[in-house]
Amino acid sequence: MTGAGADLAAAIDELGLVDHHVHGLLRADLDRPAFEAAITESFEPAAPGTTWFDAPVGFAVRAHCAPVLDLPAHAGPDAYLERRRELGAPEVNRRLLTASGVAALLIDTGHRAEEITGLEETAAIAGQAVAEVVRLEAVAEEVAAGGQEAGGFAEAFSTRLAQAAAGAVGLKTVVAYRFGLDFDPARPSAAEVATAAGAWLRGGGGRLTDPVLLRAGIWAGLDLGLPLQFHVGYGDPDLRLHRCNPLLMTDFLAAGPRDVPVMLLHCYPYHREAGYLAQVFPQVYFDVGEAVNYTGGRSRAVLAESLELAPFGKALFSSDAWGPAELHLLGAVLWRRGMASVLDEFVAAGEWSLADAVRVATMIGRDNARRVYRPGESDVDDTLRR
Ligand SMILES: [Zn+2]
Repeated sequence: MTGAGADLAAAIDELGLVDHHVHGLLRADLDRPAFEAAITESFEPAAPGTTWFDAPVGFAVRAHCAPVLDLPAHAGPDAYLERRRELGAPEVNRRLLTASGVAALLIDTGHRAEEITGLEETAAIAGQAVAEVVRLEAVAEEVAAGGQEAGGFAEAFSTRLAQAAAGAVGLKTVVAYRFGLDFDPARPSAAEVATAAGAWLRGGGGRLTDPVLLRAGIWAGLDLGLPLQFHVGYGDPDLRLHRCNPLLMTDFLAAGPRDVPVMLLHCYPYHREAGYLAQVFPQVYFDVGEAVNYTGGRSRAVLAESLELAPFGKALFSSDAWGPAELHLLGAVLWRRGMASVLDEFVAAGEWSLADAVRVATMIGRDNARRVYRPGESDVDDTLRR
């Protein structure tokens, strides 16, 4: 690393990151099967004779989390988990979150929320500012569970969504999981929504997968004007990855409003496609969160690819951590290391100045999120700027 590289790495290490897509923490101690299940997107145990520790994220845990628990870097899985149990989950969570240097968490509260810490509890453990991102599908399912009849569903949903969104910084849809990103780009008519709601409610509501109602939710979300996050790309096997390419949303993005930010989350392995969409549509932003954790030692390459096409004001940092605090720490550590390494190369090659490298890292790690999520709204604004 050059002298400038050391300055750049130091500046990036000091940056108080805004993690714009993240979840809460598991409260309990984890035995080896539980921990291994939490560091993979698979629902199944590792293949016979193998372990999830022998994967990029497992190596990253041993390299970067072990020292935070007072172990040598690269300590073995058993030693790591024994030390984890010895310290206890609350202390492990506190140490790993504190070590991440993240300043603010925008928390998606809609995924298996009953199993993990909520907003205030996470804030207390982390000593970090938190703000909520509300899931459209969770709100629709809540309205259905409340005994809503079909004719008034659209209005009841919009009312409930506006209430839920009042204290939030953004909205999120998991249409990628529930249908695919190849959804019909047009806003459904009121009659279509009433018919679809009738069928869903007669069937007892539950997990929302009806494509008309999913689209109705997305358009109602756009009406509120808050940044709308979309799950894109890689995730657990509830989705079909070939239907999670963001290019499938091209007509929807072309038809949609330009003044409501659309945040494409994760995106891997379609992060280059996301970068293209961020270049051509003013409302599109993206991140490579989650992929940074799961590609471990190769995350540098993913970060480099995320800097290929999109304007630098359109990329954001996220961890997408859910569950073990190792994922919260790794999201930050791997991002800082990867960005420092990639940007140092640009500086050394004379393509970028050191000042620009520090400025762009600050934009992606913190300032783009500050600008996009509820600018000017005092309470949330203060949270993000604390
Ligand atoms: Zn997530």
